[in-house]
Amino acid sequence: MTRATVVGAGGLGGPLALALGAAGVELVIVDHDTVELSNLHRQIQFTASDIGKSKATVLASAVVAAGGKARGYQTKWTAEDADDISGDCDLIVDGCDDPATKFAVADWAVATGKPYVIAAALRYGGNVLVGAPGHACYRCLFEEPVDAATCAAAGVLGPVVGVIGGVAAALAIGLARGDSSHAGSIFVFDDLRRSRDPRIVRFEPRAGCPSCTQRKAS
Ligand SMILES: [Zn+2]
Repeated sequence: MTRATVVGAGGLGGPLALALGAAGVELVIVDHDTVELSNLHRQIQFTASDIGKSKATVLASAVVAAGGKARGYQTKWTAEDADDISGDCDLIVDGCDDPATKFAVADWAVATGKPYVIAAALRYGGNVLVGAPGHACYRCLFEEPVDAATCAAAGVLGPVVGVIGGVAAALAIGLARGDSSHAGSIFVFDDLRRSRDPRIVRFEPRAGCPSCTQRKAS
């Protein structure tokens, strides 16, 4: 059985975990946050009765209720604990809302040679990046975290996370089945109110990328 870590149990983590769990992928779901009333318009895995509960635990229960296998951990995913939490996973999928964590997930995946998917959504669009050993990485493209707007501050249209999370799940299921044909690519959805077609951009490894350089040296 394939094992995956899902980082983030919110708007993107919900569709990611439910789709991967239903596809037979055994999940470890990690999120330090608890459910709030303001989450419910886009985090449709939760109901009003979940307010105050651990997002990771409630989402894991939803995956199990749908016939899948999942464990939820109410903690922040960090590089320090990564080997303990995600060491036995075959791939790692990120749908969290924190740029630093996204870089940490990608760097750890590159260092350990695991395929990964990093998904992000904001306002009316989002993007999904696919990585695998031997291909350009997240840090090749984005270099380092910037102070970007967050969903909590800038908002995101409820259905947008469903679309982006669904695309991320489909690409992750592809990776789980050994299809790395999209590795080193990013799917960009500019504004889902205007177009559902992504720009699929394949990018090259960046000379001097510290994440890739460290991988080659190890
Ligand atoms: Zn790189």
